[in-house]
Amino acid sequence: MSESLARELACIDCGAIYVLGYRLECEKCRGLLELRYDVDRLRAAGPALFSGTGLWRYAAMLPIADPGHRVTLGEGGTPLLDCPRLAARLGVRRLLLKYDGANPTGTVKDRTSATAVGAALQFGYRATSVVSSGNAGSSIAAYSARAGLRSLIFAYERASAPKLLHMTATASDLIIYKGVYDDLISHWDRLVEERLFFDCGASRNAYKHEGKKTLAYEIAEQTGFVAPDVVVAPVAVGETFIATARGFRELCEAGLISRAPRMVAAQATRANAIARAFRDGTPITPLKIGYTVAEGLAAGNPGRKGDWVLRLLRKDNGLAADVEDPEILEAQRMLARVEGIWAGPTGVATVAVLRRLLEHKDLDPAQTICAIISETGLKTEAELPSREGTAFDEESLRRLVRGLLSGRGHPG
Ligand SMILES: *Cc1c(COP(=O)(O)O)cnc(C)c1O
Ligand SMILES: [Zn+2]
Repeated sequence: MSESLARELACIDCGAIYVLGYRLECEKCRGLLELRYDVDRLRAAGPALFSGTGLWRYAAMLPIADPGHRVTLGEGGTPLLDCPRLAARLGVRRLLLKYDGANPTGTVKDRTSATAVGAALQFGYRATSVVSSGNAGSSIAAYSARAGLRSLIFAYERASAPKLLHMTATASDLIIYKGVYDDLISHWDRLVEERLFFDCGASRNAYKHEGKKTLAYEIAEQTGFVAPDVVVAPVAVGETFIATARGFRELCEAGLISRAPRMVAAQATRANAIARAFRDGTPITPLKIGYTVAEGLAAGNPGRKGDWVLRLLRKDNGLAADVEDPEILEAQRMLARVEGIWAGPTGVATVAVLRRLLEHKDLDPAQTICAIISETGLKTEAELPSREGTAFDEESLRRLVRGLLSGRGHPG
């Protein structure tokens, strides 16, 4: 099936309806817009509506009408890994990790880049742009190149070396900005309105946002349409959280799953504006933030999407929590050792949050919990281990290997 079932744009605040088009906010109240679909068609057809592999398997439920605009580098279709050893360590009955580090540029951002750049083609734009701590920049640059579009990428000065190398290679123009995301985004968002380039940012573009919805569709299909009890999603601005929650809601409305998972928002303590507001029962107060190892979560002012996350958390009995940098790094080591998954600090914040929530008995350990691992560790910069090498002859090599393998607790 190659038809898109996207029908209209709806304002999340006042409910105003608009015909499909490149529109960033509600004309009446400036509220954010979300895409609405012909869910009845999904209900009638069921999973038969999905075909092919990867993200575009769900093209019917995505807003890119012309198959020729569905740009791809092979994103989506990432593994859902059952992790019994880590589950035992954390004290939960069943733990599933949705490993989005397996995407083409190593992060969940490729899902939104596919629909953002697809929409840029759909609406006839020649150039894209984004403000990024590194992941969105390298992903939008790669997808723009793939689509033959120019890309103006604004990257955080503390982006890791691998991310910078990747952006240098793929972007038409790479501009390093001083300060954090919050320092540039409000200026850049004004330029978006002049339509100089297609908005590939996280603040407002409903078409971009949409790609991450496929996380829910994949998790649902991979669990045989049972869906986990709880899904832990990383939250910077809130795209991943909101889109995943809506994907599950659509699947519920279409009768493909019987209930939507409870959503947990995971943040870094140094950028915890949403978790803090949730705990205190207050509106969001933007934070002035410094550095966190979870670079991709470093947004102190999540803007209107942050308000949207908070609204969903309160309406649907969600949960939000944040973790300190050392807990994130500890979770990163544990995930690597215990399950062989090497994820970046931003990508494992969900595991660190899950660990803390289970320790504090804020989650029921008898449930099936899914955590989204949103990036690979291969784009991380960290201190290198010593590179001092040893020269061996056969005997010294044998002695070393025998010594190591006779060590206590070795599984062999
Ligand atoms: C951008 C990003 C996120 C989450 O950002 P949202 O704007 O909240 O969707 C999570 N993980 C990684 C690796 C990211 O790059
Ligand atoms: Zn409105």
